Amino acid sequence: MRSVYFPLLLFPLLIFACRSPLATPQVMSKRVAAGDFEYVRHRFDSIQRPLNFEFPRQRNYDNTAYLPDTTHADYLPVRNVLLNFHVMNSADTVYDFYGAKATEYITYLLSFSNKKFNNNPRSWLQPDSMDVPALPTRIQFKLATDPATGRPAIYEHYDDELYDYRHDNPGRNRGDMAVVKKYAVRTERELNIFLMGPPWAGPQPVGPPSPGSGIFLGDAVKLTDPLSGKSPAWELRKVFTHEVGHALGLWHAWGKSDGCDDTPAHANLSWKLKKRGPGVSSNNLMDYSPNQEALTPCQIGRMQARMADPTSKQRRWVRRDWCEYRPEKRVVIDENVTFDGARDFNSDVLVRAGFTLTVNNRFHLPLGAKILVEPGARLVLGPDAILHNDCGDNWGGVEVGVLNKTLRGEVVADPRATVLNETT
Ligand SMILES: [Zn+2]
Repeated sequence: MRSVYFPLLLFPLLIFACRSPLATPQVMSKRVAAGDFEYVRHRFDSIQRPLNFEFPRQRNYDNTAYLPDTTHADYLPVRNVLLNFHVMNSADTVYDFYGAKATEYITYLLSFSNKKFNNNPRSWLQPDSMDVPALPTRIQFKLATDPATGRPAIYEHYDDELYDYRHDNPGRNRGDMAVVKKYAVRTERELNIFLMGPPWAGPQPVGPPSPGSGIFLGDAVKLTDPLSGKSPAWELRKVFTHEVGHALGLWHAWGKSDGCDDTPAHANLSWKLKKRGPGVSSNNLMDYSPNQEALTPCQIGRMQARMADPTSKQRRWVRRDWCEYRPEKRVVIDENVTFDGARDFNSDVLVRAGFTLTVNNRFHLPLGAKILVEPGARLVLGPDAILHNDCGDNWGGVEVGVLNKTLRGEVVADPRATVLNETT
């Protein structure tokens, strides 16, 4: 009798012994953390899959949806703005500004500008009862490459008619488009920058020496006057980034109608003040001052929002880094995150167990890249979500992690959400 009953008693104990490791949340979370589970493809149903889809033109941007996250920089990938440069001169080179000297100047100009955009300083003037944080801009400037030569896109033009730039009277020609029309290249992909000088002969600029002047003219920025040597690159950086700020969608900050409530209205008299500093004068990039360099969160959001809009002029100048899949890096969502602004990632996006990623705007992934939803994680698509590939390819789709019947990744999609060119 004893020999018959012993295995029967042991059998349930063995089952219990085998199953118990799966039963505890701690063990399951360890298995999820170790990647000890399978991913299966999530098939969307009851969402929109239009055959022909065109992004609507945007008129109003939600700037707050494009603010950099100081604890998760990678939630807002850096935008690299592509620039080419035109170095003007007279036919007999009245200015000693060409060749290696001009290239070095441009290199410094970009370097100083990128440093300031990386380390955006605190605003000196803030509206009453408002603390305006100094966020990183997540914007950088890159010298384009000439597609024909493979060399840096710096062009020299020796043109007696068009080398001069007079910002003010006498002979003001700042709005003259002739130099842009004649020499601008690849306006569909790059912002053209013209480095110009004051006229060698004829009417001379009046007024005190300035660190330079500039103007944004739709497809190009004209700057004076690095040619004369009066505007070193670290000084011209202020005017240069101010004009590029206009190009990226910013207005002057001292008025009441710049679209930002974190830039206080003021008299814009910084150049005339004897004492300048925090609480006294402005250091905003879009005001006039010797200190112009700070950008408020709203201003950063305005630029970022435009660069994320597939129908905008600004997006054309952004290097399309998001088209190149980088499998070695991935965006890890390890908090509850909502993307109400559009995003262009160039990697997989992983939603960690215990957290929810909510997407409610355009969301691009490159060829082959996936959204991975760990067991116990959630992906929510809101009514304005558009998952797609912006580069004429297919993106890799959504995969959910499956550990057992009860623990798997969850996908919740509003029926108005849109999924485009997902790989099959
Ligand atoms: Zn301006």
